[in-house]
Amino acid sequence: EITTTFERNADTTYPLGSVYGRPDNATVRRCEDVITLLEAGAATLAFGSGMAAATAFFLALERPCHVVAPKVMYWSLRNWLRTEAPSLGLDVSFVDATDATAVARAIRPGETGAVWLETPANPLWTLSDVATISAMAHDGGAVVAVDSTAASPVVQQPVALGADVVMHAATKYLNGHSDVVAGSLTFANAGPLLERAAKVRASYGAILGPFEAALLLRGMRTLFVRVARQCETAAYVSKAMRHNRDVAHVLYPGVGDEQIIQLARAQMPGGFGGMLSIRCSGGRDHALATAARLSVFKRATSLGGVESLVEHRASIEGEGTPCPDDLLRLSIGLEPADALIADLERALKAP
Ligand SMILES: *Cc1c(COP(=O)(O)O)cnc(C)c1O
Repeated sequence: EITTTFERNADTTYPLGSVYGRPDNATVRRCEDVITLLEAGAATLAFGSGMAAATAFFLALERPCHVVAPKVMYWSLRNWLRTEAPSLGLDVSFVDATDATAVARAIRPGETGAVWLETPANPLWTLSDVATISAMAHDGGAVVAVDSTAASPVVQQPVALGADVVMHAATKYLNGHSDVVAGSLTFANAGPLLERAAKVRASYGAILGPFEAALLLRGMRTLFVRVARQCETAAYVSKAMRHNRDVAHVLYPGVGDEQIIQLARAQMPGGFGGMLSIRCSGGRDHALATAARLSVFKRATSLGGVESLVEHRASIEGEGTPCPDDLLRLSIGLEPADALIADLERALKAP
């Protein structure tokens, strides 16, 4: 129900277990229970945004500590780790997380509190080997958290691969309708990290609102059909783009050398996801002109919704981004694949 406060019994106990809406509430708990099942974890905390979830994870670590994070990751979180996290007792090393050995080398046993991964990683859709890195991180005494937003639980379940925490920007695939901002952390085990994260959420007031929780519950009802279709369409689009002379590279988890495809197959049993990027053969101006000519794809940020979206990430991310300036990020929605392919083929051609 949509309420901020809960009635006590005459004996002062609470019949529903809820007291007040900031630490937790019944509607949010229902959402959390669904995400826990989807991720096969032990417990979930829902937050008011993906960023609130991610930052709560870092604030829940015993600080000061060292953290290993990927060079290619969600831009706003990378900025927070670079600019805000150091003053909060987090010493962050950015590494090439597509290389498990590079991650292992960056781990300082006894000092490294956490390894943060994002796979597939926005906006290049490179993969990190969650099982291998989790085993190495655990040897070094660090926990592993995976931003699994771009995959969704339909595609991969990081807990099954050995990760300790799974983060989602539920704003994206979990909700799927571009009308809720929300985030989640799912914990493989109940324990001190979960308890500290719950305390951070309560004291920073970072919880998801009950109304948004109700919308998110409704959105998640169609998660499996949406994502299955988005994966299928993204595979068609990526194939068409690989055969297009105006496209220099297609970046998609199902595309690459044999080793990457093998990792994708092993780690992403539900498909390769609905996100891909293309690099336009004519460079930055070609990319911008292509985005301007698209009409089925809408020019907007965000991802994972029912409408297909296109974004020139380099202009959003600005200086220091690992994103090339000839790249267009595509979020595949629920439109027919041939309509999306025709839109791209027409837009990529110079008039
Ligand atoms: C959108 C996004 C986030 C942040 O989520 P918000 O709900 O916008 O705060 C984090 N990681 C990834 C991969 C995202 O796409």
